[in-house]
Formats: sequence, C-alpha cells, structure tokens
Amino acid sequence: MEKLYWKDAYAKEFDALVTRVEGNAIYLDRTAFYPVGGGQPCDTGTILVGGKEYRITEVSKDGEDVKHMSDAAFEAKAGDKAHGKIDWEKRHAYMKLHTALHLLDALMINEQGTGMITGGQIYQDRARIDIDGDGITREKVQGMVDRANEVIRKGRDVLSKQITREDALANPILARTQPGRKLIESLLSVRVVEIAGLDEQIDGGTHVSNVSEIGRITLGSFKNNGRHHKRIEIKLS
Ligand SMILES: [Zn+2]
Repeated sequence: MEKLYWKDAYAKEFDALVTRVEGNAIYLDRTAFYPVGGGQPCDTGTILVGGKEYRITEVSKDGEDVKHMSDAAFEAKAGDKAHGKIDWEKRHAYMKLHTALHLLDALMINEQGTGMITGGQIYQDRARIDIDGDGITREKVQGMVDRANEVIRKGRDVLSKQITREDALANPILARTQPGRKLIESLLSVRVVEIAGLDEQIDGGTHVSNVSEIGRITLGSFKNNGRHHKRIEIKLS
C-alpha cells in the first residue's frame, strides 16, 4: 500500500486500484487519505468507483493497509479502478497546525530547556498541546509563540525522510524518550520529519513544505493543571 499522503502531502486527487471491499469499507493499492493518528484527524473526501461517487467519512489504519469508510456499501471489487479526492481545505488546515506544533515543540526544547510536549490534538480551527514542565507560564509560552512567528516570517523548509532503525536509535534527539525508543525498536525503518536546522521528529503526519505557509500563530487559552500538566491552545491567522 503506497502512502501518497507521505510521498506528497499536497496530493489532492489520485488514481488507485481497489484491493478489497468489505461492505462500507474499501481498501486501495495507494491512497492520499490520511488515516487518523498522531493527534491528526483523518481526511474526508470522496472515492469514485464503478461510476458511483462515495462520501468518505472515516479513514483509519488497518495493519499495513488503510481502511476508507463510506456511509454507503461499496458496489465494487478488487481490481476496479478508483479515483479519490480529499477535502483539501480541511487537510491543509491540519498540515499548517501540525507544522506549527513542531515549531513550538522545537523551541520548547531548544530554548526553554524545560518542558516537554506530552500530547496534542489538531482540530480544523485550532490545536491543543499538553506540556509537562515546571515554571511554564503563559508569558513564557507567549514568548515562544512570538519566536515561532519570527521563524515563520523568515521561512524554513520542512523535509521528511526514511532512516533505518539503527540510525534512529543512535540519534539522541530522535530517541529522547522511553516510549520513543520503544516505538523505534518496533519498526524496520523510521520516518523523520525535519524543520531544516531546527527540529527532527519521528512522525507519521502531514506537514506544509515550508513554515512560511503556516501564517501567524496566536495563543488561545492557557490552563495550569499542575506541575506536569499545562494545556495550551493555539490558532492560526
Ligand atoms: Zn508532525
């Protein structure tokens, strides 16, 4: 199964062959539909197959495959030609927010020296991050957002590559947490997303190709839920 969403995050339409149909679920030999994961929602869109267009409402990983769910049962079979189209505006919003989170994460680690992002969720109009860190205040986060906006103004490429498990484990930045090391050990090759010269992360999401595309980050709510749990929300304009 070819992951077009990794190869080209800007692929909005694609041709594929059906590999399997199970009622409302269809599987293809390649897809641009991002399956839900890593805090990024799945893509929605349409798949045209057998002369009929189906609305795709849920997309998820299924082993090495991607399962596309429709609200109707597919009248199609393995070998049929299909044409997919993702809802681009929504996906592009996710890409921008996802890349913005990388930038904030990088600044947190490189500049603050304190605080680690422990979780996050991307929505269409905002994203939320959970931070484990003492002494993280709204003012500090605002400062980070300001510096992130400076990086965005100047522009910086965002790249992705596949590296071997051994190379990933040998890189202390990539394998900086215990769960991170565990994850790497379970994979044959590891996808790394890099903001050139600033940040490297193991990542399965979709990103813009230059941070200048993000726009401007604004800080929304800041909640202090204790030493190990600060929750912030960001928006883009
Ligand atoms: Zn990412």
